Amino acid sequence: MNPAAYADTILQGQQPIKDWESLYSANKLFRLHFFSPRNSNSRYLGIFYNLPSKSLNDEAVWVANRNTPIQDASGSLMIDTNGKLKITYSGGTIPSVFDSSPIASINSSATLQDDGNFVLTEVNPDGSMNRTLWQSFDYPTDTFLPGMKLGVNFRTGHRWSLTSWISKQVPSSGSFTIGGDPNGTSQLMIWWQGNVYWTSGIWRNGHFDNAPKLSNYDNARFSYISNENEKYLTYSVNKSDVGTHLKIDTVGIITEGQAAASFGVCSLSGMLDAGCLKRAYPQCWKDDDFWYESKTGHIFDDGYRFDENYNMSLFDCQDKCAQNCSCFAYASLTLNGTGCEIWSKDLSFYTSGSPMNREVYFLQTGRARKWWIWLIASLSGILLLAFSILCYFVQRKLRVKGINEAETRTLLNELEDTITPQSQYGKPRDKQDKKLKQVYFYSIESIAMATNNFAAANKLGEGGFGPVYKGMLPGGQEIAIKRLSRNSGQGLREFKNEILLIAKLQHTNLVRLLGCCIEGQEKILVYEYMPNKSLDFSLFDSSTRELLNWTQRMNIIDGVAQGLLYLHKYSRLKVVHRDLKASNILLDHGLNPKISDFGMAKIFGVHESEANTNRIVGTYGYMSPEYAIKGIVSMKTDVFSFGVLLLEIVSGKKNYSSYCLERPLNLIGYAWELWMEGRVLELMDSRLDNSSPKDEIRRCINVGLLCVQDHPEDRPSMTDVVYMLTKDTVKLPAPKQPAFFIENGARAREAKREISLEKNCTNELSLSVMEAR
Ligand code: AMP
Repeated sequence: MNPAAYADTILQGQQPIKDWESLYSANKLFRLHFFSPRNSNSRYLGIFYNLPSKSLNDEAVWVANRNTPIQDASGSLMIDTNGKLKITYSGGTIPSVFDSSPIASINSSATLQDDGNFVLTEVNPDGSMNRTLWQSFDYPTDTFLPGMKLGVNFRTGHRWSLTSWISKQVPSSGSFTIGGDPNGTSQLMIWWQGNVYWTSGIWRNGHFDNAPKLSNYDNARFSYISNENEKYLTYSVNKSDVGTHLKIDTVGIITEGQAAASFGVCSLSGMLDAGCLKRAYPQCWKDDDFWYESKTGHIFDDGYRFDENYNMSLFDCQDKCAQNCSCFAYASLTLNGTGCEIWSKDLSFYTSGSPMNREVYFLQTGRARKWWIWLIASLSGILLLAFSILCYFVQRKLRVKGINEAETRTLLNELEDTITPQSQYGKPRDKQDKKLKQVYFYSIESIAMATNNFAAANKLGEGGFGPVYKGMLPGGQEIAIKRLSRNSGQGLREFKNEILLIAKLQHTNLVRLLGCCIEGQEKILVYEYMPNKSLDFSLFDSSTRELLNWTQRMNIIDGVAQGLLYLHKYSRLKVVHRDLKASNILLDHGLNPKISDFGMAKIFGVHESEANTNRIVGTYGYMSPEYAIKGIVSMKTDVFSFGVLLLEIVSGKKNYSSYCLERPLNLIGYAWELWMEGRVLELMDSRLDNSSPKDEIRRCINVGLLCVQDHPEDRPSMTDVVYMLTKDTVKLPAPKQPAFFIENGARAREAKREISLEKNCTNELSLSVMEAR
């Protein structure tokens, strides 16, 4: 806020106070200006403390237009020709609490006083003050400042009351109101949705019956005024105690500054403080021992959503859940705490501390009485665990036993149509062979010779399949050799898949499989050699390599998109790769990308667009939610991974930088946060030249965020992606909130799935999830 104006008074006919200007009280104890709550663009006119204590100054103590925010910075405050205060904006005048101010017969002016009261006064022609026309203290929001009144004026019928904000971030009227008893007794009441929720009891000897100690502040002097004209509670403090205030918060608790006051704290179902009225709940809660515990994370199932107007508070939502015997969890619909969604069954929920995730409240019931439920659950858990361990070892044993003779023979038969029979160094025996079969058969001797007997010096890296070596054929051709390791998590199935698939696919952005070797225990794949290794080296490990500039990155993005488009649409088979990630993008001499590793790819029928699989394979961080959780695989599974890859290429950061650390926010979450705050270019790799084209970078991030949207049907197809990346004149849609969820095996287990980790490395985690279906 730029304090462009330092006056405490606004005069009729004077320039309006603009959105960016402030009024300050004479001793600068309060200020009045427009503001937006956190994570919101809505503009409200509010009064704030202006004290040395920062935390006090951030919360508005009064709001003029709580239910009618302005959506841009065109708002201004003025006194119109009738002497009335009003808020105008580019679209005219907005309704506000000022509408209750009367018409002044002569000039008027409004002053922000040092007690926080904003007072509209009639001014005599000689400049002296006449009568008070209107004051903000008569129309409090949720905050009770010293000098304010809570009660009723019998002559005018005016009631002084406070109404809570709907959520901490949204000032609109919430569901709790505190005010004087309309029946005229000397007590205060809190209403929730119009029903009495708490009563103070009668005022006697300086305090209310149900609130013997009204305040934690010894210096606050409360008085209850009762005469034929008025009945109200008010209080005063010493001048030095400016900052003292009471407030009704979003869950109906009276707070003093940051702490709960010493009265009016009611629990969900029982009564904590005297004066709390018992709320009526269905029979299923007859024993009253239920409560809710919150967890922050991501939910995959849609619940029942109330109230599209978002005028429900979290407390209202809790009540909806408690009224429904089958409700198991509830949460606000929006991140700013409004709206309501409830779930009646166990949900797929992943705990994650990301601020972009929702806080979900889960039902908890009395443990003591339900001991037998816990017993059964624990026993089932132990049995399930034992069974899983047994399965794991049986499966492992089968794998380690490896590929025996019979399997080798079967494999050779199955691949007969694909592989060209052996020649000494893998060359086709004749032209006919070359034409029909694109993958050649290499002898183990030729492979051993090419790699200098699998010398450690020739090792290029290690993937899920096993070690990868560089080799050279006698003709001088460089090759890369992947040797299926015996204890690899992947096995014959992936080996066969890779050969059968890649033999039928040909595209400049797919790595070429030259041949294979199947002999005894050895299963080896031979590829064209990619001198620039895989993209993860260039992108994340730049200390050892030259940094990729933007043009090279864009070329890689384009190439990968083209390769995927080919797989999805133009190849002879309709293929979903299922494991697209930086380490599966290889770079040739010219840094052109080639998609590799088709071991996990899935072939779709021509008319098939979606499949359900029991075998979920891939890499967390790149896996779409519907695939990781429900095993639903489609082209959109790859689109999601492509989106993650895009964000990684732009930022030079991994989606999950390490699996061993707690990470509050992954890259997708971070990108989304920047997008929401309009700072999306901050995602750009800081090592990139500052002259890199910002429009193109912004475009890539936009496409990336579209690809990682939560619902597959919201994600673009690869045809759309290529179009959006190449046509820079096309206006891109704004992305919806993305899915950023699974973080590690431990959390995945929460989804009650049995996970067997098949690869264990520090940087990424490939896994196979078996589900009983
Ligand atoms: P992968 O099993 O495909 O994950 O490969 C493991 C690592 O070996 C990769 O990250 C690459 O660095 C390297 N690599 C794999 N294939 C090739 C290739 N054709 N040319 C060069 N390096 C490769």
